[in-house]
Amino acid sequence: MSKQMNPITQAIRIQAERSGQMEHSVPLYLTSSFCFDTAEEMRATFADEREANIYSRFVNPNVTEFTDKIAALEGTEAAYATASGMSAISSTFLALLKQGDHLLSCNAIFGSTHTVLNKYLPKYGISSSYFAADQPDTWEQAIRPETKMIYVETPTNPGLDILDLERLGELARKHGLLFVVDNCFATPIAQRPVEYGADLVIHSGTKWLDGQGRVLAGVVAGRKDLIHDIYLFCRSMGPSLSPFNAWILSKSLETLDVRMERHAANALYLAQQLEHHTAIKTLRYPFLASHPQYDIAVKQMKNGGGIICFELAGGLEAGRRFLDKLNMLSLTANLGDTRSIASHPASTTHAKLTEEERLAVNITPGLIRISAGLEHRDDILQDILQALEP
Ligand SMILES: *Cc1c(COP(=O)(O)O)cnc(C)c1O
Repeated sequence: MSKQMNPITQAIRIQAERSGQMEHSVPLYLTSSFCFDTAEEMRATFADEREANIYSRFVNPNVTEFTDKIAALEGTEAAYATASGMSAISSTFLALLKQGDHLLSCNAIFGSTHTVLNKYLPKYGISSSYFAADQPDTWEQAIRPETKMIYVETPTNPGLDILDLERLGELARKHGLLFVVDNCFATPIAQRPVEYGADLVIHSGTKWLDGQGRVLAGVVAGRKDLIHDIYLFCRSMGPSLSPFNAWILSKSLETLDVRMERHAANALYLAQQLEHHTAIKTLRYPFLASHPQYDIAVKQMKNGGGIICFELAGGLEAGRRFLDKLNMLSLTANLGDTRSIASHPASTTHAKLTEEERLAVNITPGLIRISAGLEHRDDILQDILQALEP
């Protein structure tokens, strides 16, 4: 595959080597291990003297096809895939940090990531602290002598704060820190964090990358030496991606660009139509001029992504009533699907946070998050409008 080709073409054309059957679409390599012709070949492969497949916990052709596409889309040297977004995140921390290290993150991060930082990393002597997403002037002061890594998401979930990647990249470089970005919400179609100095980019493949709510997956992309360290950690610890899931995901990436274009167009349309609705107190979408970090969003993103969020005037009760009145939108714990999804973070994904922690990241009691699907935009809008009626 020519490196000159556009990443979108590479996401379609990168393919595992064609087998003797001359198939057009890649076969599913549903095998736990791979064979050797001779004892000498097997010995040399185990000794890393030649490159060949050994065992699917280490590598598998379907998984490699998927990670090669992600590396092309994110513009990185390498990528490694895991069984879920959370295993990609936790493996990155555990492979690259050690006892005594400090991890600096942002108060607005995914709920389970918050749990890993607060509950599990301390067991291994790794400390962490958070800076406020909307107070960039405090970020540098939060760096400690023992800080090794900056870890952020942008746009944040579910509050849709936009963090300035260029500014964070400069901070990381100045202080010699690893800079890691969870790029799940934007996808590489809207934003490529390595262009702003990120060393590693992480995805939950479960969301937009699959885009159809079928499989769990995670992937880390970045510099070859760092990805190799993560690979060695995972090959021993074992959170490998199933070949079946990789096969699904690799097919999904062929349509990522067209899907994200429509998801973002639908989300922008919903945001524009709902922004001034009387039942809605505030509405956020990165590509609305009213968004507090609009200038940063348009600087670092090609589109505003597929998620909008709004605060209902009636608070918690209004939030529950809104969800109950929806006819078409799904009430489900996922996002990034062909089908539009509504969720109420305060009572579900972020229920484990304290009220104070929730408010610090704009998760107000009446906050609703909408993941715009690929249904006709007016059908999505009509369902939301009727559910907003008093
Ligand atoms: C869903 C999600 C994750 C976790 O991914 P899983 O595949 O569910 O393990 C991490 N980060 C963000 C931003 C997410 O939305």
